[in-house]
Amino acid sequence: MIDSHFHLADEAFEPDLEAVVGRALGAGVRQGLCILAAGDAVEGAERLAGLWPAVRFAAGVHPHQAGAFAGDPGRAVATVRAALAANDRVRAVGEIGLDYHYEFAPRSVQQDVFAHQVRLARELDLPVVIHTREATEDTVAIIRREGGAALRGVFHCFSGDADMAREALDHGVSLTVFAEGGRTLDGRVKPFQKGVFRIVRDLGFPIVPMSMVGSFEFNRKGSWMLHPSTIVVHLHDTIETKGLSREELEALPDRVYEIVAKPVHAALEGSGAKGIGEGPA
Ligand SMILES: [Zn+2]
Ligand SMILES: [Zn+2]
Repeated sequence: MIDSHFHLADEAFEPDLEAVVGRALGAGVRQGLCILAAGDAVEGAERLAGLWPAVRFAAGVHPHQAGAFAGDPGRAVATVRAALAANDRVRAVGEIGLDYHYEFAPRSVQQDVFAHQVRLARELDLPVVIHTREATEDTVAIIRREGGAALRGVFHCFSGDADMAREALDHGVSLTVFAEGGRTLDGRVKPFQKGVFRIVRDLGFPIVPMSMVGSFEFNRKGSWMLHPSTIVVHLHDTIETKGLSREELEALPDRVYEIVAKPVHAALEGSGAKGIGEGPA
């Protein structure tokens, strides 16, 4: 199992990094991609690689940090190049993208910094890790304009429509989609919205159902506090959607719901279902 996104080089993890890595390895996480903010101290990355030699890194200027490069996106690119030169385990450019929800930097600045980094990824033939929030349309437009056909990567959250999904998938980017409309107050999985299943079937891509057990405990409804807990991620068997009949498509949301909800509800009822990829929260 590979964990494709964490920030363990952050100094917040320094005091107990060894224990955190130990728990991940003990739970069967063999490889991981640690996201470095460009300009991060190299010590954090070295400390992590020392404890976990298989770890690899992505380096990039996050949209939250784009404001520091206003009017000078070339300097953002230079910062990423410097991170690449300083660390021979860097394998991706990221996380990069657009965040119009927080909008810590003006949109035009975010777009500029993002576009330059996509261009860099293409030049270096590296995959991208994309952070996008309430900015799918502009994100896809920049990928289309700057990335070209050869760009690869991952969106770590996706909320666009069918055309945008097609665009991203055609660019070799896989998508994480939340089909559920949220959790009930006691942590149960709410019924799935159906539209996403139709989109996936029409595009002919497979689904990998995923359950997250313990996330409710970690981030309780109605609270902005994150509580210490263990999150278990279940990756279920792949379901092909190409050529599903109308009846099969009708039944698909319930079929996936049953698979996804089962371990979540079992854990809430205290039967303690165990999954792969148990990791620290
Ligand atoms: Zn991140
Ligand atoms: Zn992110």
